[in-house]
Amino acid sequence: MNTESIAENLLRVEERIGAACLRAGRARAEITLIGVSKTHAAGAIREAYAAGLRHFGENRVQEWEGKRGEVELLPGAVWHLIGHLQSNKAGRAAKIFDCVDSVDDFAVAERLRRAWSEGGRTDGAGRLRVLIEVRVAEEETKNGVAIGQLPELAERVARLDGIDLAGLMCIPPFLEEVELARPYFRKLREVRDDLAGLLGRKLPVLSMGMSHDFAVAIEEGATEVRVGTALFGVRAGKEEAKVE
Ligand SMILES: *Cc1c(COP(=O)(O)O)cnc(C)c1O
Repeated sequence: MNTESIAENLLRVEERIGAACLRAGRARAEITLIGVSKTHAAGAIREAYAAGLRHFGENRVQEWEGKRGEVELLPGAVWHLIGHLQSNKAGRAAKIFDCVDSVDDFAVAERLRRAWSEGGRTDGAGRLRVLIEVRVAEEETKNGVAIGQLPELAERVARLDGIDLAGLMCIPPFLEEVELARPYFRKLREVRDDLAGLLGRKLPVLSMGMSHDFAVAIEEGATEVRVGTALFGVRAGKEEAKVE
């Protein structure tokens, strides 16, 4: 992929998003493409921005603290934290990200709220947008709240001032055969629908799908897809992608 430019990769990803939307009878505008720039240099972010990408995902607070000085002034760019967040880094995260898409613990949400009230970055509505990460594959020891614990966590997070609980996120197991990921994506959508009913409010965002399976995720209702490799190329130390 090194011979390809990021702009060319973006066109190809856009074609695949377009084809998935067509199959699912959805509008392209319903889906936000998040370019996952973790491990890549700031130059790659600038290249993707120049090609039209506006949403970026990083998975480590410290890595983004190191890179953001080189790219932060790109107008209209939106920075998402997509990796697991420990509560002792939540205060720092609230100050450098627009969205925290991987909340799975009330202590983390509470610390984000506190940091926000002390002057963190905020979305247009004046609140920090968060998603709750759900563990859709019970047997996996990945991050995310268990489905059984989700309603209680969501009710508490939804009550925090300054926090906009916008929806759910998941990382299903990596499966070569992408069709096998479909039930996990469908599950997250169903869990979201139930939760929205329980809370009596909309939870419009479903962040699901990565380079190899985003088309299936779009068919199952994803509103945000997180795409790294297909845009930026293979990461050095690819294994970290699977443990985050
Ligand atoms: C790394 C990562 C991605 C992107 O993975 P690719 O397979 O490179 O597209 C998406 N989501 C999360 C949470 C990640 O950590």
